[in-house]
Amino acid sequence: MNLDSIKTVAVLGAGTMGNGIAHVFARAGYDVILRDVEEGFLQRGMETISKNLDREVKKGKLTEAEKPQVLARLKPVTDIAAVAAADFVVEAVPEKLEIKRSVLTEADKVLRPEVILTSNTSSIAITTLAAMTKRPERFVGMHFMNPVPVMALVEVIRALQTSDAAFLTTIELAKKLGKTPVAVNDAPGFVSNRVLMPLINEAAYAVMEGVATPEAVDAVMKLGMNHPMGPLELADFIGLDVCVDIMHVLLDGLGDPKYRACPLLKKYVAAGWLGRKSGRGFHNYS
Ligand code: NAD
Repeated sequence: MNLDSIKTVAVLGAGTMGNGIAHVFARAGYDVILRDVEEGFLQRGMETISKNLDREVKKGKLTEAEKPQVLARLKPVTDIAAVAAADFVVEAVPEKLEIKRSVLTEADKVLRPEVILTSNTSSIAITTLAAMTKRPERFVGMHFMNPVPVMALVEVIRALQTSDAAFLTTIELAKKLGKTPVAVNDAPGFVSNRVLMPLINEAAYAVMEGVATPEAVDAVMKLGMNHPMGPLELADFIGLDVCVDIMHVLLDGLGDPKYRACPLLKKYVAAGWLGRKSGRGFHNYS
């Protein structure tokens, strides 16, 4: 499938990432089929898109008149059969291998053979997901960052099986969204989490060992290294449970004990201190 013949994109999953991905495709003029398993999840996703478009109107990035046009390009569906019309697909369902397997298998069945299927997974091997489909050479990792409408990066990940054509089309499509694609080979954590998670983990060790408070660790990284958010603030934003899960993926995949999750991170997760979403993590949000 070449770039110019892509008109309709399906996004599987209307959660945090899926609604953001649907938003940026619709903003770039694509028709978007947004699929989730329940009407309620679709409604929530569409409400989030509407609110985020309002924010763009306020900032002058979009006109009042354009907003309904963007919304009209989005078609929320629960029926997988509706996905058959797509020319390109991004999967953004929960980070569980069995859920990914079932969603990718059902999409693979209804899509035309030439359609490129991509996954927004943060940590599952693209090579493994590609092998679950009948189109491994047309399977690519398309790793958007949260919040999708705001963040410039898309890590485009090449599985062992990915063809040059599918890879290049995905890169070019990311550019059409106004994003900056960065080409990466398939490896645990890709580049983003391979580099970020050990930084967060080390910051947690510094707190655990009494080197400094979370506030001090974050201040050093913000003021001294020009990071817009401190590593522990960022960990709270991502979710400490997600951070621990990704450290496990790095340890499993790379086998080096330097990727062992910090015991303090695991303890916080055990306590239900998951970061922003639970009201408390390294910092307090109540
Ligand atoms: P989420 O839980 O917010 O959303 C997942 C959505 O998928 C839910 O609405 C759920 O109902 C839906 N879903 C479940 N089964 C489905 C099916 N069979 N068909 C269609 N939809 C289905 O999750 P999320 O945070 O958006 O993460 C999605 C993916 O993006 C994961 O692979 C995650 O690793 C990755 N990711 C997340 C972030 C992040 O910051 N949240 C960043 C980058 C990548």
